[in-house]
Amino acid sequence: MEYSHILVRYGELALKGKNQKHFVTKLKQNVKKALYAFPDVSIKGKHDHMYILLNGEDASAVINVCKDIFGIQSCSLAMKVENEEETIKESALEALRREDGTTFKVTTKRPNKDFPKSSQEMNQIIGGHLLRNTEDWKVNVHQPDSEIRVEIRHDATYITANKIYGKGGLPVGSAGKTLLLLSGGIDSPVAGYLTMKRGVQLEAIHFHSPPFTSERAKQKVEDLAQTLTKFGGEIKLHVVPFTEVQQKIFKETPDAYGMTIMRRMMLRISEQIAEQHEILSLTTGESLGQVASQTMESMHVINEVTNYPILRPLVAMDKLDIMEISRQIDAYEISIRPYEDCCTIFVPKSPKTKPRKEKVHQFEDPIDFSQEIKRAIEGVETLTFDVTKVSQESMYEDLF
Ligand code: ATP
Ligand code: MG
Repeated sequence: MEYSHILVRYGELALKGKNQKHFVTKLKQNVKKALYAFPDVSIKGKHDHMYILLNGEDASAVINVCKDIFGIQSCSLAMKVENEEETIKESALEALRREDGTTFKVTTKRPNKDFPKSSQEMNQIIGGHLLRNTEDWKVNVHQPDSEIRVEIRHDATYITANKIYGKGGLPVGSAGKTLLLLSGGIDSPVAGYLTMKRGVQLEAIHFHSPPFTSERAKQKVEDLAQTLTKFGGEIKLHVVPFTEVQQKIFKETPDAYGMTIMRRMMLRISEQIAEQHEILSLTTGESLGQVASQTMESMHVINEVTNYPILRPLVAMDKLDIMEISRQIDAYEISIRPYEDCCTIFVPKSPKTKPRKEKVHQFEDPIDFSQEIKRAIEGVETLTFDVTKVSQESMYEDLF
């Protein structure tokens, strides 16, 4: 008997009461999309679990993709067998033989009450059969190396052994959309990833200042957006030509306030793009105290220009922890490519770490940026990235 199914468990998703149907439908769509490279699989979404029918596709490769889909708590390879005692016993034995370890436990569930034996009886019958037919395995009900789960349903009995943990979270697209300010750095892709984990779909915006920033710097951001699609299907990236705005700030405002004013311009433009695309929040990779623009005073002054909620999932995280996540999501190697960012080029040598609101207004208010902002928005180039273009290699390596 081969593993024919993958049993997918939802975790937190299962708690969502009336909205559950919406979450399950979203997850099912996301799983289907992520498994584009396995055309023969079919998916059955139930209210508390999902089955992926493999139909001959490679089980471990499919599980490896599922591990990265938000909303999935864990997956197990499953055998589907007839509701017949002898078959169930033999299949459970086969499942145990594929396991590593020396102790096991059998857990039977019997949603199908027409089955003539109780769950407890089945635990004993199967457990006894496993003990008689193996040499090294013993029972340990408290901390078994392997738990053989037998679920006797109406259509069939499902037998699962190993449990592979996924990333948890909520299905991307179940909690609206955000506009991620995506630089080429380490932090913002991680911020995007964590936001997606809470079910939020991403669009991204990047401020690009040619010829001061190169095509390769832009390529880096495109590669980061592409990498993030692995966790949530499609991502649109809006690339804003920012040179004119930056040059004007550089020329017409004092150096020490250049960075603060530039950030305010980024937020103003981001808000307009968000509005155009019916997106209800912005997300940044800011982390308190990390650089000059991320002090409490800076955030206060920069934030003044928008009423949009700004999600800052990294605000309380240490850089080392952020770097760790960046590595896990395969973004780190892209983020550390040594190409310049628009901020690093125009950033003054000593930006104000404690900018004052009245000073910002004194420098900014007399200058009319409206035409430059308008042209920047009109010049936006929108690129769409899709999970189907993620390299297969990066999706399937490190299997188990
Ligand atoms: P990151 O590693 O994400 O670049 P950082 O630690 O370098 O962050 P800053 O350069 O101050 O910090 O940027 C703070 C946030 O502002 C970034 O996380 C990102 O969300 C946004 N940001 C900075 N530069 C750009 C840019 N060129 N385009 C879009 N967003 C940007
Ligand atoms: Mg940066």
